[in-house]
Amino acid sequence: MERFRAAGGTHLFLATQNYDHDVPLSLESYARQFEVTAELAVKVHAEVGARAYPVLAPYPVDLVTAVAQVGNARAVELHCSALDLAGRWVRERKAVALGEVGFPHFPVSDEVRDAADTVFRHALEVARDSDCPVVVHSADLDAAERTGLAERARRAGVRPDRIVKHYARARFVGRDDPGVVPSYLARRELVREVIRDPGPWFLETDYLDDTDRPGAVLDLATVPRRATAIADDPAVGPEPLWVPFVEAIERVYGWRPELDAEGAE
Ligand SMILES: [Zn+2]
Repeated sequence: MERFRAAGGTHLFLATQNYDHDVPLSLESYARQFEVTAELAVKVHAEVGARAYPVLAPYPVDLVTAVAQVGNARAVELHCSALDLAGRWVRERKAVALGEVGFPHFPVSDEVRDAADTVFRHALEVARDSDCPVVVHSADLDAAERTGLAERARRAGVRPDRIVKHYARARFVGRDDPGVVPSYLARRELVREVIRDPGPWFLETDYLDDTDRPGAVLDLATVPRRATAIADDPAVGPEPLWVPFVEAIERVYGWRPELDAEGAE
C-alpha cells in the first residue's frame, strides 16, 4: 500500500478475499472475513492516507468447495445469507458494492454451475434492494455473453451499467455494447488502447486476487503509475483520466470520490 500511495494513488476499491487458507463454510466465517476487510480499509487510510472502499461478497469460487463439503442446497443457502449480510453492510454504508459475485472462471460440474447461477440471481436482487453495483468475477466474456449478462441484470431490476466485469483483459467494443462496465487490467498496451474510450470503465490490478498466478500479477502501484505516465504524455494528457477515476464512479457507484488538500482523505 505504501507503494500505491507513493506512486500517487489516493483511492481504491478493496474487494474482500479469503484471508485464511480454508474456504468459509459458515456465515460467521464470512462475517469475520468482511470485518477483516473493513479493518484493512481503516488501516490503509490511517497508516497510508489512501481511501479504501470495501466491496463485499462470498467469493464465487468458494462454491466449489462448499458444494463438495455441505451439498448444493446448504452451499446456496450459505452464499445467499452471506450476500444478504453484504447487502446490509452496503445499506449501512460500510461497503460500496457487492463483489466479487458471479461464476468460477474454470469448468465446473453442473451442480456447482447451478448453485452459482442461483446465488448470482440472488446477488442481483440484493444489489437492486441495496441500490449498489455488483463486481462480477467470471471467465472472459465475449460481446454476446455481455449482452446476456446485461439482460439478466435488467430483468432483475438492476441497470446494466451497475454491473462491473472485473479482470477485463480485452477492450469492450461495439456500438451495441449493452453497458456492462469493464474494469480493465491495467496492462500498458490495454490502457493505451482504451484510454480515449467513452466511459464508464475502470482500471484495476489483480494484486491480491490472484497471487497463485505470479506471472499474471500486476503490482498494486500499477494503476497510479499508468495514470501518471498518461498524464505526462504530451500526446494524451490528464483529461481522459476523468473517465476511470471520477466519471465512472459517479455513474456506476452514484457518488463522487472526495479529495482533501493533500489529495487523499
Ligand atoms: Zn476475481
